[in-house]
Amino acid sequence: MHEYPITERIIEISKKHGEESGASKIETICLVVGDQSGFIAESIQMYFDIIAEGTICEGARLIIKPIKSQLKCDACGAFFHREPFSFKCPHCGGDASPTDIGKEFYIESITVETED
Ligand SMILES: [Zn+2]
Repeated sequence: MHEYPITERIIEISKKHGEESGASKIETICLVVGDQSGFIAESIQMYFDIIAEGTICEGARLIIKPIKSQLKCDACGAFFHREPFSFKCPHCGGDASPTDIGKEFYIESITVETED
């Protein structure tokens, strides 16, 4: 449910960007969403369609780039995707720690359509 306010924010930023560049319509919004960001891409898409209605964001294509979280091995320093129920490094068998990879949540780019 907490995707609602964040989706409102995405639309606000896109509208501002569109107004500043004299756009008649927002074409695409590219969003980077890590799987540990706490946000569900499907929910953002659902709210987007509702909130964007009647704004220049209506009909815009939301492109969501998912990022898979990664662990970093404490012993050999390798980065790898976590297997379920395991923190073991696939390279040396050492114990790994969580990293910030997978916690991303930001707008990567916005493209607009201008009248002429
Ligand atoms: Zn290792």
